[in-house]
Amino acid sequence: MFKAILIEKDDAGYRAAVQDIDDARLPEGDVTVRVARSTLNYKDALAITGKGPVVRRFPMVPGIDLAGTVEASSHAGFKPGDSVLLNGWGVGEGHWGGLAQRARLRGDWLIPLPAAFSAAQAMSIGTAGYTAMLCVLALERHGVTPDKGEVVVTGAAGGVGSVAVAVLAKLGYDVIALTGRTEEAKYLKSLGAREVIDRAVCIPQGRPLAKERWAGAVDVVGSQVLANVCASIKYGGTVAACGLAGGAELPLTVMPFILRGVTLAGVDSVMRPKADRLEAWSRLATDLDLEKLGLIANEIGLSEAIPAAAQIIEGKLRGRVVVDVDR
Ligand code: NDP
Repeated sequence: MFKAILIEKDDAGYRAAVQDIDDARLPEGDVTVRVARSTLNYKDALAITGKGPVVRRFPMVPGIDLAGTVEASSHAGFKPGDSVLLNGWGVGEGHWGGLAQRARLRGDWLIPLPAAFSAAQAMSIGTAGYTAMLCVLALERHGVTPDKGEVVVTGAAGGVGSVAVAVLAKLGYDVIALTGRTEEAKYLKSLGAREVIDRAVCIPQGRPLAKERWAGAVDVVGSQVLANVCASIKYGGTVAACGLAGGAELPLTVMPFILRGVTLAGVDSVMRPKADRLEAWSRLATDLDLEKLGLIANEIGLSEAIPAAAQIIEGKLRGRVVVDVDR
């Protein structure tokens, strides 16, 4: 038996609760992992609360991330005792996920836990932090170097945003944090933001082209905020867009792209090929201060993850949430 959060949907409604589950109910897979830590991402919060159509099969164990130790494996790449890490691949959506003491997975989805991180540190980063790194890599690939000028991070006090601010600052970028919670200015500056801007300035519909300010941007908000950010990107700059915390629509014109050569670089972490994952995690090992990671993450127990999910949807949780599945 193992403990897990189980999401059920039937005539009695949509609900999530911690349950004791028989090992025999684990899904198919060639690697069984004793989970040490998982985490709560925005997507996990949507799954647990039912506020977004994340779960594709019921009952479902949520948790798009996990770190732990291999218990059994028939996959050539992993043996019992190996420390492993998983991000995405539809786990926690269509296949039972990491908010559990045990998981059975496809070995092809796993990567070795980077030596630089403990399971708890890897989950402090989680999909949110790994996606932040993918966004930084996208900016680099499009030539946004620190000498080009200010870069803006939207949804800065959230998980992706916090890690993006910390990594960009360490790399020497001039980072401006855009947030709906200006009371978190001290926190954002401690991560390396030089200036903190109130998101309210970015909510009204702006002009198709605004004053050129940003050399680059990491956007987790989408909607009008992303549209206004695109309109303020300097000639030849790039926006790495990965999220929709403020909405999935995108009310913008082609003007920034055809008159300023702006690039809108979409970033997906879920189906990302293994080589990109390994590159992102290896860069996190060198470009993210563990001291700052300590400021970003808080740890909770499995049963606390259910109320915490509601707080994430309300935008009330700061940074990252690590889940100790044994308490
Ligand atoms: P968090 O909940 O940790 O942070 C989201 C942040 O967005 C909040 O802290 C808040 O920033 C801001 N925000 C929340 N609600 C609104 C709103 N209504 N309008 C404007 N801004 C809002 O989530 P994550 O950082 O984990 O994820 C951020 C986004 O990125 C999500 O949409 C998520 O689905 C997406 N994502 C996408 C991935 C991919 O593969 N493409 C991978 C990981 C995440 P502040 O507090 O600063 O105001």
